[in-house]
Amino acid sequence: MKKSDISAFFAILQAANPHPKTELEYSSHFELLAAVLLSAQATDVGVNKATRKLFAVANTPQAMLDLGLEGLEGYIQTIGLYRSKAKHLLQTCQILLERFDGQVPNSREALETLPGVGRKTANVVLNVAFGQPTMAVDTHIFRVSNRTGLAPGATPLAVEQALLKRVPKEYLQHAHHWLILLGRYVCQARKPRCWECSVAAHCDFKPKTPLKTPLKTPAS
Ligand code: SF4
Repeated sequence: MKKSDISAFFAILQAANPHPKTELEYSSHFELLAAVLLSAQATDVGVNKATRKLFAVANTPQAMLDLGLEGLEGYIQTIGLYRSKAKHLLQTCQILLERFDGQVPNSREALETLPGVGRKTANVVLNVAFGQPTMAVDTHIFRVSNRTGLAPGATPLAVEQALLKRVPKEYLQHAHHWLILLGRYVCQARKPRCWECSVAAHCDFKPKTPLKTPLKTPAS
């Protein structure tokens, strides 16, 4: 994708949604961290359903620890990988209390010491909670960045680095939200909805998907 197209691409996304937000529900840095940790390989809708009840009874590291493993599992068992996520979340709560005064730290190095918190989770927390212009490359951003020619890369880290280099400064803060939403609702994995895509004129993907394209099914 040419530089001029990248600017136009983000100008359109920004005009349509000037203040994009995560679809995860949270009301504190700790709730955000817990929700993002739980969201790996799960939908935001599914996580919100569980955390609405969970955060009503436990929205601090100590309250979460007080639930105990079984208690916590009871709230999140509808979320994939809930057993390991419950274990990691409790270990994270313990570390937050022991090393960070019960607060969510605002540096990548510190965040990545927390069990269950990898680079992507740290990037989301740094961006959403602390306003840092990070790129949390999930499956949607990875696909959209490669398909459109915006920031091609073979791995999430390569795409993250390409995005940081290629996205104009003024769009860096919100770029990952715009790309997630584009990927989730328009530039979908199986059939990108090019016929109704606002950034089609600036995207390198060819041929664009027309409205009536039948889905390809694997040969039986
Ligand atoms: S035009 Fe099609 S491939 Fe390009 S971003 Fe839009 S939906 Fe995705």
